[in-house]
Amino acid sequence: MSGARALLVAAIIITWLTMAAVPSEARTLQVGLGSGRAAVSLGFPAGAQLVLPGGDTVALAPGDWVWVGLARAMVQLGRSGPRWVAQQMAEALGSVELPVTYRYLQGSWIAYLGPFVSGSEAWSAAKQAQQAGIPARVVWAYHPEGELTISWRGGALQPVSRVGELVRASGTSFTVDGRQYRGEVHIWGLPDGTVQVINEVDLEAYLRGVVPAEMPAEWPLEALKAQAIAARTYALRHCVAGGRHEGFDLCDGTHCQVYAGAGREHPRTDRAVKDTQGVVLWFGDRLADTVYHAHAGGRTEDAEQIWGSAVPYLRGRPVPAEPPRLWSWMLPEVELLQALARVVRQEVEGPLVEFNVLQWFPSGRVRRVSLVTPSGQYVVSAERLRSAIGATRVRSGFWEVAKGQERTMILGMSAAQVAAVLPAGDPVRITRLVPAPALGVSYCTRQEPLWVFWGDGFGHGVGMSQWGAQGLALDGWTHGQILQFFYPGTRLGPWKGP
Ligand SMILES: [Zn+2]
Repeated sequence: MSGARALLVAAIIITWLTMAAVPSEARTLQVGLGSGRAAVSLGFPAGAQLVLPGGDTVALAPGDWVWVGLARAMVQLGRSGPRWVAQQMAEALGSVELPVTYRYLQGSWIAYLGPFVSGSEAWSAAKQAQQAGIPARVVWAYHPEGELTISWRGGALQPVSRVGELVRASGTSFTVDGRQYRGEVHIWGLPDGTVQVINEVDLEAYLRGVVPAEMPAEWPLEALKAQAIAARTYALRHCVAGGRHEGFDLCDGTHCQVYAGAGREHPRTDRAVKDTQGVVLWFGDRLADTVYHAHAGGRTEDAEQIWGSAVPYLRGRPVPAEPPRLWSWMLPEVELLQALARVVRQEVEGPLVEFNVLQWFPSGRVRRVSLVTPSGQYVVSAERLRSAIGATRVRSGFWEVAKGQERTMILGMSAAQVAAVLPAGDPVRITRLVPAPALGVSYCTRQEPLWVFWGDGFGHGVGMSQWGAQGLALDGWTHGQILQFFYPGTRLGPWKGP
């Protein structure tokens, strides 16, 4: 690495470390699209300006793509065909000593030189082959031990440093693995060798991709407006406070709020965003903590019951006009014990002998549970167990549980094969082995203990219930009244800047 490049990388690392502490521009957000990926493919339907490490810029034409990831180079010889053609192609290299590999893809064979760890090795190998009169070109394949590389249509291939900002591109829109977004895109290399995609986007454009992802676009406009204001306030509050993520303001998942980009925009949610442009919810002179969830199960929850500290406007209350949303989930006992092991951070031996609720919150949500196994009795927080099982399985704090039993068929496996793939201590019992020679397989039935959870509601229950907001809007409430109901004591007002 040259001295200048080392300095640049150091500067980028420092920027990376301090980015989170600096408030963003008045209304521009840095949104992390997914978490570290091995590789990413960006598309630019309307063209873009690409900025490479070191500051060189490239004008991308409409339809151009950029690929960033851990890559290994191969040199493809000629075209695909029967195996003997591929072999002849490789043999024609004669005395040139280069590694040859063959791949069988979609019915025909291709000969490759390589793999090569670096692009430059591959380029010189391709040149040798070309000098021997063989058509050869460098192709790239994802490989965990390869080098981090940027390539783009019509451009040279560039190895890049693994840590820091690798590339940025600005245009009117771009796609990430086919999904469309507005604004700028930045790709950062993380220390673990993965790449992080960050979308720098105007707040209002961001909201156009959030509201339809968080609430069905056909719901009443007043509910959509309440959602737009809650999402705007939530985004700005966390953007100003920082600290939720390192290197960007918000992620695009339920951890922050779901952001699906420009492909998900809808005229009705666009209107809800536009009609409430710049409006946020204040508590005193601070942005309110506008947390929300899908369905309260009939009653919202006090913030302190879930997160430990009380917030004056996040108090549990009955939600009128929220239709019941009942759910059930059958969980294999082995998965329940694995979830318990994650909560107590130690090995838990099966079978589960007893599973009881010890305590409920005043709202009726489960607070504390007891599980008894041969390795002991475990008393744990119900919310922690719920999130270890999966918050989309046991969907809310309102639940009951009972032991159930179900038979499951495993096709195409012998009893010995089934036993071999089951984790040690799995309580599954193989009950029957049925040979099916006509199908060329045998299959067996197995019996496994299951626990059945059922309940009402979806989410943590604090703040606004989205289904409740829909119900109130259908009853004729305005977005202001809906927000006042779920966040009492707050007021609507314009955002004044950081
Ligand atoms: Zn997040």
